[in-house]
Amino acid sequence: MTRSTCPYCGVGCGVLIGRDGAGEIVVKGDPEHPANYGRLCSKGTALAETLGLEDRLLAPQIDGREAGWDEALELVARRFTETIAEHGPDSVAFYVSGQLLTEDYYVANKLMKGFIGSANIDTNSRLCMASSVAGHRRAFGTDTVPGLYEDLELADLVVLTGSNLAWCHPVLYQRLVAAKAARPEMRVVVIDPRRTATCDIADLHLAVASGGDAAIFNALLAEIARRGAVDRAYLAHVTGFDAALAAAEASDPAMSGVSNAELARFCDLWIGTEKVVTVYSQGINQSSSGTDKVNAILNCHLATGRIGQPGMGPFSITGQPNAMGGREVGGLANMLACHMDLENPTHRAAVQDFWRAPAMPEAAGLKAVDMFRAVGNGKIRAIWIIHTNPVVSMPDADAVRAALRGCDFVVVSDVTARTDTAALAHVLLPATAWGEKDGTVTNSERRISRQRRVLPAPGGARHDWRILAEVGQRMGWRGEFCWTSPAEVFAEYAALSGVGGRLGVDFDISEYSEISLPDYAALEPFVWPQGPGRKGGRFFADGQFYTPDGKARMIAVTPRAPVSRISAEFPFRLNTGRTRDQWHTMTRTAKSARLNQHLGEPYLEIHPDDAARVGLEAAGIARVASADGEALLRVYLSDAVRPGEVFAPMHWTGETASAARIDAVVSAVTDPVSGQPESKATAVSITPF
Ligand code: SF4
Repeated sequence: MTRSTCPYCGVGCGVLIGRDGAGEIVVKGDPEHPANYGRLCSKGTALAETLGLEDRLLAPQIDGREAGWDEALELVARRFTETIAEHGPDSVAFYVSGQLLTEDYYVANKLMKGFIGSANIDTNSRLCMASSVAGHRRAFGTDTVPGLYEDLELADLVVLTGSNLAWCHPVLYQRLVAAKAARPEMRVVVIDPRRTATCDIADLHLAVASGGDAAIFNALLAEIARRGAVDRAYLAHVTGFDAALAAAEASDPAMSGVSNAELARFCDLWIGTEKVVTVYSQGINQSSSGTDKVNAILNCHLATGRIGQPGMGPFSITGQPNAMGGREVGGLANMLACHMDLENPTHRAAVQDFWRAPAMPEAAGLKAVDMFRAVGNGKIRAIWIIHTNPVVSMPDADAVRAALRGCDFVVVSDVTARTDTAALAHVLLPATAWGEKDGTVTNSERRISRQRRVLPAPGGARHDWRILAEVGQRMGWRGEFCWTSPAEVFAEYAALSGVGGRLGVDFDISEYSEISLPDYAALEPFVWPQGPGRKGGRFFADGQFYTPDGKARMIAVTPRAPVSRISAEFPFRLNTGRTRDQWHTMTRTAKSARLNQHLGEPYLEIHPDDAARVGLEAAGIARVASADGEALLRVYLSDAVRPGEVFAPMHWTGETASAARIDAVVSAVTDPVSGQPESKATAVSITPF
């Protein structure tokens, strides 16, 4: 059996891939991988069912006709070079994905930031955890997740806020269920507008109003101070306490939509339990005030010193298998590489020197929503989209489709021939898929694991790092993009992290900078930080942070309602998210009949009272409309949603007026700090179809 890693969520489960007696591929959980110890969820268990070549892109295409690799790569390199020469480096962009392996990500980031000389590379992780990144950097000085998965098992209280862990990170949920079964005194609180499957193990469910999370954590901070629960010794390592507390005391708890009695019960539990972990995910991040919500959570842990110790700390769980690797490698438009800061001249000079780069941008590039707006208004004239389907997944998706239709030059690298985005490409490049490629990913607890190849590349498919490197060479940078294996890319990346480490940055895996091919092949999962005295540890129990003065910063947070306003025309609040058995835009999971059985069609979850008021019946069809677009969805009556709020899954698409493409309805409102879209709070109308 070959050890590898599941390609879906940020839990990053280890898998064993082999063949059964009939020669068919089988996938099992890896009992030795520390993320899952053999467990898998429904998606991971069905991986072998998704490896078929139906719908695979097997040869490059130019304007819909099959082409050779040389012709396609020459065309991409020439059109990017010409566009840059005529309109400058910021007239081109890469939009990449948390599905990329770290080595692919590294090459894309190096090509755009170091050699093209623009920071216009952003990733679909912008839609997932950009607010966590921004919140971490404001509080800690770096984008550092302080804890480990085992902290969820060691805690006496686990708070899950904006996280349907049971469906979106199922193996972590299984670990939590097992821990609670072993220690029934353990408490779980779920903060979510919906009564989700995660609430099955909740001792307390706070059905927070949309946008009300910061009001809950501000109320908690005020109560921590009122009860004298502040850790004054730890506060010596923190600045901003007084301002954060004043803002917390001034905020209105009623904004949370939670009763005073429920808030008091939550504060009793949180303050009265030393070992507390607060897990947060897209329900916090996907908000026009997502960064503030993150900092409201971090404030409570900093004020009590409950951070970086076994069973204690804030914990951001990412959506994608390599969202963390993308953060580490600098795949966001406002990051550099290896957690170095794009706008720090010392960091920039160090990376430029290491890369021997001719041109480095001095300011952040365009974040995802602004990037596609720039495509729409002609500022970006050539874009390369890699392993993501923004025509389905971006907010205001109709505008994204129109922008790409009008763009001079669109390149799409993907494994799938038929996606809504691939249909708009001038050049389609066939990439290898999971099981066909080698590289590394980082999961939500900073654990770097190998993905390993067990299948040959089908047809003409090539590895992403190699496709990007070949374009870099054809654009004139032959010596700088000449790796012969992902192991060489990883070694260069590790060496660059040592440059950052010497500048005092948290991410340093430089002990792998001379890794050999056999050692890379045998690389065991490991948690960074590595290095002398830092092996496998947590961060911040010692009160040492990565800010200029070495202190953490508490941020004064004033809770804000969602930007999209409820009105007579749009009286409902639309929440979007994942279902248990589908992944993103379903290009892989829809291949499994087993996974399609869970929820077979797109739906709108609506409270029965609301449905009756607008004339909808169970299993009827609802038209959901916002100022930006509309979708048609099957009606699913449920009192798990709050009256006035509805939920729709994000996965489905459709070409016609009967489309279920819910992101055509979601407004492209973003958080002003992180640039993350507010995907869970668009004001909509609901009418029968
Ligand atoms: Fe894969 Fe996530 Fe399921 Fe683990 S929990 S098997 S990583 S989808």
